[in-house]
This record gives sequence, structure tokens and C-alpha cells, in this order.
Amino acid sequence: MKRVSILGSTGSVGRSCLEVVRAHPGALRVAGLSTHRSIEVLARQVKEFEPRVVAVADEAVAPALREMIGGAGVEVATGGPGLEEVARLDEADIVLNALVGSAGIMPSLAAIRAGKHLAIANKECLVAAGEVITREAAAAGVNLIPVDSEHSAVFQCLKGERRSDVDRITLTASGGPLKAMTAGEMAGVTAEEALKHPTWSMGRKVTIDSATLLNKGFEVMEAHWLFGIPTDRIEVLIEKKSVVHCLVEFVDGVVMALLSVPDMKLAIQYALTHPERLPAPLPRLDPAAVGGIAFEKPDYDRFPCLELAYHAAGLGGTAPAVLSSADEVAVESFLAGEIKFGDIYSILKEVVASHRVMAADDIDPVMRATAWARDRAAGLVEEIRRGG
Ligand code: MG
Repeated sequence: MKRVSILGSTGSVGRSCLEVVRAHPGALRVAGLSTHRSIEVLARQVKEFEPRVVAVADEAVAPALREMIGGAGVEVATGGPGLEEVARLDEADIVLNALVGSAGIMPSLAAIRAGKHLAIANKECLVAAGEVITREAAAAGVNLIPVDSEHSAVFQCLKGERRSDVDRITLTASGGPLKAMTAGEMAGVTAEEALKHPTWSMGRKVTIDSATLLNKGFEVMEAHWLFGIPTDRIEVLIEKKSVVHCLVEFVDGVVMALLSVPDMKLAIQYALTHPERLPAPLPRLDPAAVGGIAFEKPDYDRFPCLELAYHAAGLGGTAPAVLSSADEVAVESFLAGEIKFGDIYSILKEVVASHRVMAADDIDPVMRATAWARDRAAGLVEEIRRGG
């Protein structure tokens, strides 16, 4: 029996994680849960999964939650410290971090420092603080297990292989909801159009990041920290059916791929049950029905954010943290209808260009850089709004 604490249990990955727990009552149990402010959903989860502690990031709604679950004997913690408390729970064996954005950094560190294995769905914590997180995880002797489908695929291909035998990693991308559009058409799309992902059902922020392909850029950095491969040996190819999740090329030229139906519950389940496998209540891959699989190189004219991500990765230090935090602000503003789709790239480019890169070997400069980037991006959003 493994006990899991889920940070962000009311979001898309968190709810899928609870489906996995529900499917395996003899193998998995919930220790703690958290939400940003979706307290109705959390109250239902508390009733079904009986965690000992839950956290609400938005303190203003905590009293309402306490009222809803009064008498259940569940402790309600709040704010950032509340998330860290859930990350540290004594009874948890593993913490699944499915928070969105840089809010995931400190809870990840809290889990590692408490000796918990960490299943990472919050890629931003590795993008921004990968150096600190991987160093501390190694020191604490805890596993960092990817939940992102591509990284789970690489992780599985590397089982029993020596890292030094890996020559290149290719992460696949579906191409996102705007893959059929020209650069000009893309610049003016609405939030509604950009939220219609063809193959993956995900949260709003990561869906917009998939439309810009910045998500894939973040995944390149995530893969770098998880697998110790330099980013110039991590490539991206479009595979529109989202059936092939990665290609791992070894020094002898052999390429290993991982195929499955595109459902994030597979990667979540593997992260929780690793090194064991359990049957998954999902449809199986039918290769004959899939038919042809094609790979193509992404076009940087249409997806300049991907090139910007490689640029930030090359700058290193705090540059990826700045890109990631500025993107949180830009995407929120796009979803709120304040800026155009094309403005996301111009904001990010400007924020990265105006950042003075610092070393990211300690958490303080990382958190200062994320705060600076949020302010700078918010300023640029405001300029665009005023400019009409
Ligand atoms: Mg992914």
C-alpha cells in the first residue's frame, strides 16, 4: 500500500490521479489533498478519499471549506505553508505535485526535504529550479518521477540503461490546437480556439502553452534536469496522433520509442506504482487502427516560443525561471482577453531580453527572478492594454 499526497487535486492531473487511486484501492491510498480555490470539488474528494489534511492555497475560501466538511475530522491548512504541510505529511510515501506554475517550487522542495518521493506534473518547478531540486533530491535519496507523458516515456525507455549510452532524446508534440494555421492566422486566435486541444485533455494553462509550443520548450528543460542530457541533444518532433511519446537514441544508433493511447492516467499510474506495473482501466492501443505515424520538424516561424525556450535554456541560470514566470502572466492575460495570442511571444521575448541572468544554484535568486519576471510581464501587458 502506497499513500499519496496530491498537490492540486482539483485540477486536471489531480482529478486523473484520484481516478487512478480509485481504480486501485488495494494498492493506493490518499494522505493529503490541496486546491487553489475549488472548494466544492475538494469537499467531495474529502468525503470519498478521507485524507487527514487538506490545503487551500486561497486563504479567503478556507472558512467556507471548513463549514462544508465540518465534522469530517480533516485538518484544513492554508496558503503556501499549507501546501508545504501537505507536501510533508508523515504518512505519505509519495507526493504528486500537480500545481500550476512557480507556485509548485517550494512545495516540491518541502516534499524532498521531508524525504518523500516526488511525482512531478508541475514542470515549472524543474524549469525554474531544476538545479536546486535535482541536487536536493539526490542528497535526500528520493526519486523524482516524471508524470509528464513524454518524460514518463523516456523514464521507462531508460530503465536498465546507462545514461552515458544515451545519445539523443526526442520529445514528441501533437502540434497543439493551432497546428493547421499559418503564423498570421495564429496571431489573432481567441482563447476559445486555443483551448481546443486535439488529442490531450489538460488544464487551461498547459493547453495554451501547447498552442504556442512553449510547453514543449519547457519539457526540453524538464528532460534535461530529469535525465542529465544537455538541451542541445534534446529535440522536438511533431507527431500529430500523440501515440509515440518519445524517441530515445542510443550511442549505437538504436532508437527506442514508447507508444500508448494518449491518456495521462497511464503516466500518473506508473509514477505512483513504479517500479511495479498494474493493469490500467483504459482502452489498449490498437496499432492497426492507428495506421500511419508521421514525424515532422516544428516550424520556428509558427512556433517562435519554442526557439525562445531553447535560447533561455542556453542562457541558463535564472533565464528559464524568468521565461516560465513571465509566461504564467502572459497566458493568464490572454485567457482574460487582455492581450492577443501573438502578444504572448512578444512579451516573453522582451522579458527574457531585459533580464540580467544570475546563477540558479540557490532557491533565493530563483524566487527573486520569478517575482521580477511576473512584474515585468505585467507591466508589458499593461502597456499593450493601454496601447489598445
Ligand atoms: Mg507533455
